[in-house]
Amino acid sequence: MELRKDPITRSWVITGDDVIEPAPRSQACRFCGPAAEPAQVIANLPGVDGSAWSARSVVHPNALYHIEGETTRRGDGLYDRMRSIGAHEVLLENPRHDGHLWNASAIEVSQFLRLAALRIQDLKRDSRLKYISLFKDHGAGAGQEFEHPTSQLTATTFVPRRVLYELRAGRDYFETKERCVFCDILAQEERQNLRILEIRGDYLAFCPYAPRVPYETWIMPRSHESSFERTGSSRVGNVADLATLLRFTLQRIRTVTEVFHLVLHTSPNSQHPSKTLGYWKTLDDDYHWHIEILPVLAAKARSYTFKEIYYSPVTSETAVKRLREAKI
Ligand SMILES: [Zn+2]
Ligand SMILES: [Zn+2]
Ligand SMILES: [Zn+2]
Repeated sequence: MELRKDPITRSWVITGDDVIEPAPRSQACRFCGPAAEPAQVIANLPGVDGSAWSARSVVHPNALYHIEGETTRRGDGLYDRMRSIGAHEVLLENPRHDGHLWNASAIEVSQFLRLAALRIQDLKRDSRLKYISLFKDHGAGAGQEFEHPTSQLTATTFVPRRVLYELRAGRDYFETKERCVFCDILAQEERQNLRILEIRGDYLAFCPYAPRVPYETWIMPRSHESSFERTGSSRVGNVADLATLLRFTLQRIRTVTEVFHLVLHTSPNSQHPSKTLGYWKTLDDDYHWHIEILPVLAAKARSYTFKEIYYSPVTSETAVKRLREAKI
């Protein structure tokens, strides 16, 4: 596997001919039960009810990124390429095979969020790694890989394109207004109360003004914070609110579709200051972490085929109304 840079969009892609095709999903679980296979455990959080662990991180069995070695970035004519240095982990959200983020207890979901925060903090200590992504693909239509309730984490030597757009936009907005664009969005959403799904303590779930897919929902802290991993560890009392809000939001979305992508957007590794990008000085003030949930509606598959201009047949105002009224 290697990384190649698209010279037009400046985004990196991972490619190679030695890709291990994911085995067809079977009912047997590789993480629990009689068919469980030994996994390389990276971290465990203690169990909450006497069980051995509550959330666990393991090395991805077919990791796309590997931690050993140098990136050895090099030119190839006008192109750029580098080795796929990084980390690829599977986060087991719960020891129970049916312990999903929407039906597990708030304490269990809190433990998962704490584990995610700890893993991100730990990987950020490696200055080679610029960005840590946490994501979950649920349902066959979203590319779900394992039967067990899992999320995945990748640590990469580059910042993914979507996050780069957000970082640049946050920096540009801050340059002219000296305010965080995400904080301003939250303030307007709270004032207008047209697209807010639910508020729990310091956390808010809402449907963004310009959705990319129907029922797109974001979860954000209401007070400014650029890094999710800091919230997870220092403001311990609030993690329960975040866990509860995440549970309820997923329950609501599941009344519309069981298939979704979830991604956490947090600040990049500030141990890796970039000279070519100027956003690092104000990064803590201009970026604001959030979770994006992108439901996949089979009947509306059309909206996913035109990736360049997103098309959503349901406005955020209608989406939030239906989700608010959902019986959960
Ligand atoms: Zn399982
Ligand atoms: Zn903010
Ligand atoms: Zn984002």
